[in-house]
Amino acid sequence: MGACAKVAPMTTAPQRILRVAVPVPLRRLFDYLSPPDRPVPVGARVRVPFGRRQLIGLVLEQSDTSEIAPGRLKAVSAVLDPRPVLPPALLELLRWAGGYYHHPLGEVLYTALPAHLRRGRGLTPPRDKLWRLAAGGRAVDSRALARAPVQQRILQALAGQDAGLSAAALAQLSPGWRGALGRLEEKGWVEAVTAAPPSPADPRPPEPGPALNPDQVRAAQAVTGALGRFGRFLLFGVTGSGKTEVYLHCAREALERGRQVLMLVPEIGLTPQLVARVQRRLGVPVALLHSGLSDTARHRAWQDAAGGRAPVVLGTRSAVFTPLKRPGLIIVDEEHDQSFKQQDGFRYHARDTAVMRARLESVPVILGSATPSLESLQRAREGAYVRLDLPDRTGGAGMPAVELLDLRRLPAAEGLSPPLLEAVKARLARGEQSLVFLNRRGFAPVMLCRHCAWQARCRRCDATLVLHRASGRLRCHHCGADLPRPALCPQCGKEALRPVGLGTERLAAALQRRFPGARLARVDRDTVRRRGALAAVLERVRRREVDILVGTQMISKGHHFPRLTLVAVVNADPGLFSVDFRAAEHLFQQITQVGGRAGRGEQPGQVLVQTHHAQHPVFAALRRHDYAGFAEYALAERRETGYPPFSCLALLRAESPHREAAEAFVGWAAKTGRETGEKEVQIMDPVPAPMERRAGRYRMQLLVQAPQRPPLHRFLQAWLARLEESGAARKVRWSLDVDPMDLY
Ligand code: ADP
Ligand code: ZN
Ligand code: ZN
Repeated sequence: MGACAKVAPMTTAPQRILRVAVPVPLRRLFDYLSPPDRPVPVGARVRVPFGRRQLIGLVLEQSDTSEIAPGRLKAVSAVLDPRPVLPPALLELLRWAGGYYHHPLGEVLYTALPAHLRRGRGLTPPRDKLWRLAAGGRAVDSRALARAPVQQRILQALAGQDAGLSAAALAQLSPGWRGALGRLEEKGWVEAVTAAPPSPADPRPPEPGPALNPDQVRAAQAVTGALGRFGRFLLFGVTGSGKTEVYLHCAREALERGRQVLMLVPEIGLTPQLVARVQRRLGVPVALLHSGLSDTARHRAWQDAAGGRAPVVLGTRSAVFTPLKRPGLIIVDEEHDQSFKQQDGFRYHARDTAVMRARLESVPVILGSATPSLESLQRAREGAYVRLDLPDRTGGAGMPAVELLDLRRLPAAEGLSPPLLEAVKARLARGEQSLVFLNRRGFAPVMLCRHCAWQARCRRCDATLVLHRASGRLRCHHCGADLPRPALCPQCGKEALRPVGLGTERLAAALQRRFPGARLARVDRDTVRRRGALAAVLERVRRREVDILVGTQMISKGHHFPRLTLVAVVNADPGLFSVDFRAAEHLFQQITQVGGRAGRGEQPGQVLVQTHHAQHPVFAALRRHDYAGFAEYALAERRETGYPPFSCLALLRAESPHREAAEAFVGWAAKTGRETGEKEVQIMDPVPAPMERRAGRYRMQLLVQAPQRPPLHRFLQAWLARLEESGAARKVRWSLDVDPMDLY
């Protein structure tokens, strides 16, 4: 009505409050005033004042009220996105993960964002810059630049390239290319342009795979029957039983319905062979996500997945948080692998997170393994997971024979018993390959003085220094300390220092001495430090330019060498007697994994395992290839001792340069915990970590155990609130690990 013209402008509407997660180690959201002019959606990034800093945060909730007095509320400084950067189901997953692992939400959310977005850059990944001849440059005769040879070379190179050349291509021309290019740009002869987006790969028809056998068909049908809704499947199939074929079949089915597939593999399972196989067989581009990517490459793959342009996303642990526009299927290969658990910062388990994600996205998830975790097996027993078995190797190939070599009865110079050497010799004679596995790098783990018994020990860790002979260094594998190898004993001054024990460097040297004519390759973190070095060695093995491959667990996964017929495990014992209640499970998994490399071609394979403890029950099951039988036994034991999966654990760790500070904190934490009155939760006594001192810090830990998850979570919530407020907590570095994989 016209009479209302005098009414004051509308300023009375309550200003909205945004609840923002910022990357700080605090377990709460922070309230800010929304800009008055436009609404900010949940899931958008904002820049906010935080103390004296400006931080990039993510809006998680909107509200009309705040506990902060209106006058003290600060406004967001900038809104970075008009729409959410993460889809709602993923936001929900991240909120779940923050709650489940009791980790500050801001840090959890940052795990899911590419570095560019964490730093506040735009959503669209930057494109590569290219340089090309400008109009002015086309007319120039490059001979005129005889006195500026680099400029001349650049001009000549660009003359043949209408689309332009990248920085990488120009760098090939001369180390001084950047300066020369700058001068050419100043003259107006060369200009920078933005590269066109890469055109989608040619749609190649997917390569047909083998016809599935009846077990595979049963497994694939179970999963594809669940497409479009939540379902959990445990695919339990021996190595080479065709699990990957089942994944591929189900993936193709999901793709045909226009859905995306997310496949997670362990850190060292992401081999070029696997990537090529997936690409070939599915006939679509595969977005790769792993720790080796540049920020830009990661941002692009992430954006392709989020926009639905990447039909298949293949990655390691953190890829579980990749946004997907049309999720259809989640696959976790080698689900038992420990690399799925993040061991620092936000300590999530990617497998368990993947299962929750499948629930939130209403898609099926396949957990596959030849040696599933006891947790997953137990869930299948309880009926939570549908268990699908592939009991046989495909194509009638038998399982490799597993034989034990009892080191109490056999001599073994430099770790090599006579039967092991014989077996290698037989392979050399037949032109077959051997893999000799030892999970310890370096030459020898101990340098000992024969005269006075002095040992080279790390000054900052409770550990011996490892001799690396080729480089003449003593190194600590825990803190990275690196010292020259002494010639004389620092204690008695005698020339009596001897390397004791065995690492891959020494093992390789010993084998080379025994078999001078053999072509030997060694794979461990020392030999394949350079990017691409591992792939190069494996390629040599495939081309049969290597007779004996010596290596650590880096070689244990994913590779398939048809001429490899012997796998020798030099020392199975360290796994057996660790403090970890999962030791036997991990040993079985590891030997199965390495052993699985043998005899995948026409020749049958053999696995030799050297041990001082041949009577241990784990070996009897290993020889029968009976992981299920082993699991029965191990689960019964876990039930007896009350360990997971029959209880839930959380581990509080604390470290400090001062032993008393670490002790005082865990002591106080234990006392405080016992005061919460949560009766079902058992708080153990604080103990030093198995390696008490590491990198100069004393480490203490406190285990908390509960028969069920809800009381544990109630307890942790209340307990953490008190720990965060305590003065003792500020004097140490501490963390909480829910479902710890390592109890140290
Ligand atoms: P896993 O993933 O269980 O180790 P793969 O799926 O890699 O097993 O299969 C092992 C080998 O057997 C591969 O070379 C694969 O192509 C082949 N294979 C798998 N399923 C079949 C089948 N149904 N018929 C013939 N060959 C098969
Ligand atoms: Zn000495
Ligand atoms: Zn050290």
